[in-house]
Amino acid sequence: SRDATSAMLERIEQDNVRFLRLQFTDLLGMPKNVAIPIKQAEKALTGGIGFDGSSIEGFVRIEESDMILKPDLSTYTLLPWQPEDYAEARFICDVYKASGRPFEGDPRYVLRRAMEDAAKDGFVFNTGPELEFFLFKMIDGRPTTRFQDVGGYFDLAPTDLAEDVRREIILALTEMGFEIEASHHEVAESQHEIDFKYSDALHTADNVITFKFAAKTIALMRGLHASFMAKPIHGICGSGMHTNCSLAKDGVNAFFDPDAPIQISETCLHFIGGLLKHARAITRLANPTINSYKRLVPGYEAPCYVSWSASNRSALVRVPAPRGNSTRVEFRSPDPTCNPYLAFAAMLAAGMDGVRNKIEPPNGVDKNIYQMTSAERGYAGIDTLPCDLYEAHQALLADDLICEALGPHVLEALTSVTNAEWDAYRTAVHPWELDRYLATY
Ligand code: GLU
Ligand code: MG
Ligand code: MG
Repeated sequence: SRDATSAMLERIEQDNVRFLRLQFTDLLGMPKNVAIPIKQAEKALTGGIGFDGSSIEGFVRIEESDMILKPDLSTYTLLPWQPEDYAEARFICDVYKASGRPFEGDPRYVLRRAMEDAAKDGFVFNTGPELEFFLFKMIDGRPTTRFQDVGGYFDLAPTDLAEDVRREIILALTEMGFEIEASHHEVAESQHEIDFKYSDALHTADNVITFKFAAKTIALMRGLHASFMAKPIHGICGSGMHTNCSLAKDGVNAFFDPDAPIQISETCLHFIGGLLKHARAITRLANPTINSYKRLVPGYEAPCYVSWSASNRSALVRVPAPRGNSTRVEFRSPDPTCNPYLAFAAMLAAGMDGVRNKIEPPNGVDKNIYQMTSAERGYAGIDTLPCDLYEAHQALLADDLICEALGPHVLEALTSVTNAEWDAYRTAVHPWELDRYLATY
């Protein structure tokens, strides 16, 4: 509205902002931005700012490349690492075509559409991610896999040398409006986790992008590289982005039922049923890199089987202990390389399929699945997650519901990305092969 726009313009002036960054994400979840001087602010907030989308991954062909960025006013924030007398602010934008219609290749639009669909049944999808990452040393301006510390789970300083960096990341995020709930040293050397408060999935996806960007920026200022790669080092834990999910209706948590057996509602059970039914297809979005699949192996607290449990951490879906308004399911496969808009859209579409079609999940598995034999797993009806990106993409293509949630534009772009990535990987000769075969043959 006109009032909101002029209030925002006033705020921008009060904050003494010199540059505005209009941000959006490409298909791979990489943040992109167009910087505009403050003189253009009014134009940006009223009509949007045009840009050429032809060089953005997964966007458009040359002949239809005129795009418009429209700032979402609720995403305004100052960039706290900029000096005060040179303040910069950013907006996360929705991408429109020259025709004025939303652009189907904008990941934010894909999630918006999934959320609008759930809203038809009165549901709001809330998500709360747990992002893990490594802090590695930079040497000669390049990231390495050298540890910055040798701390372990929940360690305290002085072992945890990264505490200062972690605190600075948290301070920056707090200034950007995040409510940080917890942070700790993770299991592996130099590995960390920072958890922030849940929100509706759209704002959470925005927050995931901001989180990674802020962590990388602050780390770099300290000569470190914050890596969100899923499995940077063989033989130790990878980094996950466990995602806590719940549905709310009329402001009330729809997953809680004080009278049900483990106090989770039918809606919650059916949501789990949908997640499990579509789990293999969701994997393509939750785990989008070749490297993602090196994390989804037994032994490192990452899931590899399609199952759920009220407690057990080897399951794909876990129901954490809190109840009441905090009732939620933890979806444990996503890793922080995912495009959160697409991953959340797929998870929601799957969950809503479960809720609408009353999909009963199989029995929960409270055993450690890693220790079951494949015969035992077969007997219990436990499927496996895809082993690599190629298999995951085939699983996606075979799942009409998830394909439809993404829409043909995104699906086509994902297919060409997968083909290119898989061919490059498949034809490369890796150091492992030389170690294994060079001397022997
Ligand atoms: N780092 C583990 C993963 O790859 C998760 C550890 C945890 O439970 O926090 O998912
Ligand atoms: Mg963790
Ligand atoms: Mg967790």
